[in-house]
Amino acid sequence: MVSETHNLTKHWQVLDAAHHVHPFTDTAALNAEGVRVITKADGVYLWDSEGKKIIDGMSGLWCVQVGYGNEQLAEAGCEALRVLPYYNHFFKTTNPYTVELAAKLAGLLPDGHEHVLFANSGSEANDSALKLIRYYWNLRGRPEKKIHISRELAYHGVTFAAASLSGLTPLHPQWDLPLPGFAKVPAPYWFGARAAGYGDIDPEEFGLVIARRLEETILELGADRVASFSAEPIQGAGGLIFPPATYWPEVQRICAKYDVLLHADEVITGFGRTGEWFGCQTYAIHPDIITMAKGLSSGYQPISAVSLGARMAETILHANEELVHGYTYSGHPVASAVALKNLEVMEAQKLPARVNGAIGPYFQRRLGEALSEHPLVGEVRGHGLLAAVELVPAKPERRFFPEIGRVGTHCRNYCFASGLISRAIRDTMVLAPPLTVNEAEVEEMIAKLLDAIGRTAHDFARI
Ligand SMILES: *Cc1c(COP(=O)(O)O)cnc(C)c1O
Repeated sequence: MVSETHNLTKHWQVLDAAHHVHPFTDTAALNAEGVRVITKADGVYLWDSEGKKIIDGMSGLWCVQVGYGNEQLAEAGCEALRVLPYYNHFFKTTNPYTVELAAKLAGLLPDGHEHVLFANSGSEANDSALKLIRYYWNLRGRPEKKIHISRELAYHGVTFAAASLSGLTPLHPQWDLPLPGFAKVPAPYWFGARAAGYGDIDPEEFGLVIARRLEETILELGADRVASFSAEPIQGAGGLIFPPATYWPEVQRICAKYDVLLHADEVITGFGRTGEWFGCQTYAIHPDIITMAKGLSSGYQPISAVSLGARMAETILHANEELVHGYTYSGHPVASAVALKNLEVMEAQKLPARVNGAIGPYFQRRLGEALSEHPLVGEVRGHGLLAAVELVPAKPERRFFPEIGRVGTHCRNYCFASGLISRAIRDTMVLAPPLTVNEAEVEEMIAKLLDAIGRTAHDFARI
């Protein structure tokens, strides 16, 4: 029996190496090592083809809000597959699943966001958002407003435009990006402030200083040339950067003052992750345009959305001409049905409130208690069911390791070996469990992470 599954694993590894190109992967290195085959999932657990059980501290890629194996989502998808497996919205048509989903989103989104366009991924949503921003300024008779500002360490996806908008520099050189017309400002990354030369500044002051770098950049470029500022309410893949409380109000003021559209990328922070439906609600942000994906369907189907705030909707929806944009699969009925059911399940289980009032605070408190005194841990920070643990060479100094990423990767490998999925971003360990996670599962994740950090500290003490 064991050798049978082992042979199947080998079979899949051989086929994978022969024919499958992986995202964000060094193909030759992976093929030399042999890929891991995930064969099933339930709740917060995954199983690989060797029968090993793994606790998923990352909700897949930050997306499985309701946990794996939800029967209601499966049924909703099956029903739509049988009733209306496909039709599009191009030819003056719609379908009940997509209509209901759009209306449901309008009810959950911040005020003024009554209109939604669909796409199939976060990258596509962001690409669409940038096109809509350009179109808005063209319609307003301000065609010179074309520059998109975003932040260092931002992750907005991988299409030409979304990658250009992203501030994680490794995303650029292979593709000669960013495209022209994209500018960057610093991230409100207080833990890195000393390393970045800001000295001993306190977080609130730092939030203001970094927000004002946006103002300086707008003035340098000329406000009449700046179209938009794009930002995740909390930066996700850039290392879980939680802005100081002073940051967003100041950014908001600056965008209003210079007539710069504010684009919130809620692809990670949306759908209960921070304890509200949207990160914009957590931080009292009032964006002109919002992009969402991941938790929208809990990852069960590929679907994303862009919502237009009142100002953009008024202009774009009254242009009296065709909106020349859309995908074959925009508002796909099966994906819409699953996303709609996902939102209904989240509502019925009160998942945002659970993250806000119960499991989120428990998760944050227990992580702090278990990890913050560890000599390798410089900071534990988090909000809701997002948490980051900075691994550092010396505790109080907020310094980074000289070879960035080596210690984090080492620790991540120990996590994987012990059956915990955590992610290392540079030397920051990240957890973002499903919103259905229970206390015992939180304890299991923390115990495994603590053990991995302990082993990592032991290995690096000898160097
Ligand atoms: C994941 C992510 C994206 C890209 O989404 P894809 O579906 O992978 O294209 C965009 N923005 C943020 C904030 C993300 O986390």
